[in-house]
Amino acid sequence: MNSNYRDPLGDGKSRIELIGHLGDDLTIVNDARASFEKTSSVLTEKDIRLIHYLAAHNHTSPFRGVVFKFKVKAPLFVCRQWWKHVIASNHNDEQLGWNEKSFRYVAIDDSDEFYIPKVFRKQSASNKQATEGFLPAEDNEKAIAIYEKQCRASYEAYRQLLALGVGREQARGVLVPSVYTSWVWTASLQAVLHFIDLRMGEGAQTEIAAYAQAILELIKPIVPHAVEAWSNHRNHRGF
Ligand SMILES: Cc1cc2nc3c(=O)[nH]c(=O)nc-3n(C[C@H](O)[C@H](O)[C@H](O)COP(=O)(O)OP(=O)(O)OC[C@H]3O[C@@H](n4cnc5c(N)ncnc54)[C@H](O)[C@@H]3O)c2cc1C
Repeated sequence: MNSNYRDPLGDGKSRIELIGHLGDDLTIVNDARASFEKTSSVLTEKDIRLIHYLAAHNHTSPFRGVVFKFKVKAPLFVCRQWWKHVIASNHNDEQLGWNEKSFRYVAIDDSDEFYIPKVFRKQSASNKQATEGFLPAEDNEKAIAIYEKQCRASYEAYRQLLALGVGREQARGVLVPSVYTSWVWTASLQAVLHFIDLRMGEGAQTEIAAYAQAILELIKPIVPHAVEAWSNHRNHRGF
């Protein structure tokens, strides 16, 4: 699939779109060679070897010269996990890398704007933050019904509060974390790879892992050699 967007949760509502980027594999080698005041216009085999060398030796700053901008639509609980990536989102400094929909400005007006899982995973017995295996089909159907009912009830309460004249900023408090929100995420290649590494790694929640997988697919055609070098050296400090 070559399109510039994905529906990571497969419900027709989730979305991640690559809306722009600065640089590619060639940018990495040109940035790395800035110290020699040299630039190339065509990526050569030697350049590709340099990308692998940089990744292997924690020479990570050239991977920050490539920047990606994504428009993300995800459940609030995924957004909350994503936001912990302070470097990737630049919100430790200025609000350069993260601009989010505000429920103070925009009211939700669609009871379907919630993520309703189709498949429920069981709580892991050995890992407090993980799930393992799935609910049997009959219980899965019950879980879907309970989940959907609660989302609809939260939406109803929200609309009733708005109808009473309550401000959006307070009414949003009754919305459940499965409600969809959206934001624009601007991050360097290094930060994006670090995000993918952690969020596709062991212990990551399935839903955010699906977004990380989608990001990997979206950036790979732009920086194929960097992605290959990163995947060969993932356990290095820089990534
Ligand atoms: C499976 C999983 C479970 C998690 N569970 C929880 C949880 O229960 N509760 C919770 O609060 N968070 C949790 N997190 C979030 C986690 O603690 C990190 O905040 C998140 O993964 C971002 O990672 P990061 O800090 O490496 O990335 P970034 O914030 O993007 O930082 C990138 C790198 O920059 C460096 N860096 C960033 N800030 C500093 C700093 N202040 N000082 C020195 N170096 C810095 C570090 O090398 C860091 O790896 C979880 C993450 C995962 C993947």
